[in-house]
Formats: sequence, structure tokens, C-alpha cells
Amino acid sequence: RAKERGRNTWHVYSQELHDELADRLDLSKKLRYAIEQNKLAVFYQPQVDMTTRKIIGLEALVRWIEDDGTIIGPDRFIPIAEDSGLILPISDFVLQTACRQLARWRDMGLNDIRVSVNLSGRQFQVPDLTDQILYAVRSAGIPTAFLELELTEQVLIENSKSHTQFMQDMRDNGITLAIDDFGVGYSSLSYLKHFPINALKIDRSFVKDLPDDKDDATITQTIVSLARNLDIGIVAEGVENQAQADFLIERGCTIGQGYFYSRPVPADEATALLTAPNSVIPVKIS
Ligand code: C2E
Ligand code: MG
Ligand code: MG
Ligand code: MG
Repeated sequence: RAKERGRNTWHVYSQELHDELADRLDLSKKLRYAIEQNKLAVFYQPQVDMTTRKIIGLEALVRWIEDDGTIIGPDRFIPIAEDSGLILPISDFVLQTACRQLARWRDMGLNDIRVSVNLSGRQFQVPDLTDQILYAVRSAGIPTAFLELELTEQVLIENSKSHTQFMQDMRDNGITLAIDDFGVGYSSLSYLKHFPINALKIDRSFVKDLPDDKDDATITQTIVSLARNLDIGIVAEGVENQAQADFLIERGCTIGQGYFYSRPVPADEATALLTAPNSVIPVKIS
């Protein structure tokens, strides 16, 4: 089609495509090098009981730290990592780091917090994913019940035998599963019946305009009742202010994660939050 618009147009398109491919290649090369040079880090964002502000768990979120200290967020490199297969060593790094960090927190007496780790669809192509996860948990010496894995609906669409087997393996081993970004996927809800899901995380796009946006209010309320009626947990993502928290608490969603409580922070800062009296995040006075 580009050709019909004349030679020059075709030339421009192919140049653009070439540039884009070159950028991606360049980035994936840099990413590979960053992994080898240990330039990846795991940040932690608290999940809190919004009624008490007590931290009940933390989500592990990967970061790429450049030499000059610039922090590159996962949205910029996870898609490339998925295409290039680099997501596999990255995931393993995040999983092992998060499990070891939880072991350190447990050594400090923080025995009732859990960590959540994101799983990429690509990881389901790894035949020994279950073993890899159990190995990370066991070598860190943490109880399986304190690891939660976050999957997106995208992964569940697959609905293959190996996916089902994986989820059963996790359940049998006491590892819990949460659906991330709930409500933005295209999957049917039937997987909630077939898979051992422990919690839904309401996507932050529905939380953003609460409580004023009527549609978002209805959607979040419906997701909360769905979870409660199925007797599974519910977590709100992207809570940025008290009004959103109040709305959610009133509708029965008491666990929240968002900038209102804390941004994702390096392990030492997370430790400082956890070691405050009762692991309660203080109310900001501003
Ligand atoms: P996610 O799993 O849904 O993680 C939540 C994202 O929302 C995080 O972005 C977090 O910083 C951001 N967030 C939390 N609270 C707020 C808020 O109040 N307001 C706003 N505007 N944003 C908030 P982050 O860390 O940039 O991660 C983006 C995505 O990258 C994650 O979304 C997840 O899908 C993916 N990701 C991150 N780490 C990993 C990893 O280790 N493995 C895999 N496979 N994916 C990862
Ligand atoms: Mg997540
Ligand atoms: Mg999410
Ligand atoms: Mg996401």
C-alpha cells in the first residue's frame, strides 16, 4: 500500500521501520548488558489496609538503574524484554531478589507480610516454571504462603493445559495468585470459576476518577461485589488520595496500593516503612 503512494513515501516508511527496529535492537542490547552488569534493581510498593494504614504486603517492581542514576521504568523495557526473551532472566532475578528480601524482613520479625511478584506470559513457555518458583522460595527459606504471583487476564486467555496445571501446582504448594489490572483484559470471567484465584487487583484506570466518575464508581463497586461473592480478596491499584480510599473502603475494598501511601521504593526505604510502629504509614501533613 505504501508503494501506491509513490516511491518517496515508501522510502520514508521503510526508513521509519528501519529506525524503529534499530532502536529496539539497540535497547535490547543495552538491556542484555545491564542484566549482566547487575544494573537491575527491585523496588517495593506497599499494599496497605486502608482503614489502619498498616502495610500487609509489598509488590516487587523491577527498575533499570543507569550509571548516572537515572531510573528506567519497566513499561519502557518489559515489552522489549518479552520480545527478546530477556524477560526470563529478569523474572528470575526479581523473583529471587524478592524472596530473599522477604527472608530478611522475616529475620527482623516482620512475619506477617507477603511479597507479590509479577509473572509475564512468556514465562509460561518455560517448562520448569513451577520448579523455578519453588526453588526461589525454598532457597530463600520463606514459607510459600507469603509469596503471591500476579498474572494478567491476558495470560489466562490462553487457558491451556499447562496453564491450568501451573495454577494447580501453585495452589497445591500454597502460593497465592492475584489477577493484575483486573477489568481491562478481554477474557471471560469463567476462569474465576476454573482457576484457584485468591485476589483481584482493580486496575488503576477505574480508580483514577473516583469518586466523581459515575461509570468508574459503578465498575469498581461491581468488581468489589464480584470478588466478595466469590469469596476472593480485592486490592485497589493506583490509590492517590483520601477520597478514593474512602469510597473504596465504604464499598468493601479495604486493601489499597498507590502513591497516596507510598511510591515503589528501594528495599532500604521499604524497610524503614515496615519498621515504623506497627508498620503503619504515617499520614502526610501538607
Ligand atoms: P503493575 O503490576 O500493574 O504495577 C503497578 C504499577 O502502577 C507500577 O508501575 C506502579 O508504580 C504504578 N502505580 C502504583 N501506584 C500508583 C498510583 O497511585 N498512581 C499511578 N499513576 N501509578 C501507580 P511500574 O513500576 O512502572 O510498573 C509497570 C508495569 O510493569 C507493572 O504494572 C507490571 O505489569 C510491569 N512489571 C513491573 N515489574 C515487573 C516484573 O518484575 N516482571 C514483569 N513481568 N512485569 C513487571
Ligand atoms: Mg502487578
Ligand atoms: Mg496492575
Ligand atoms: Mg500493568
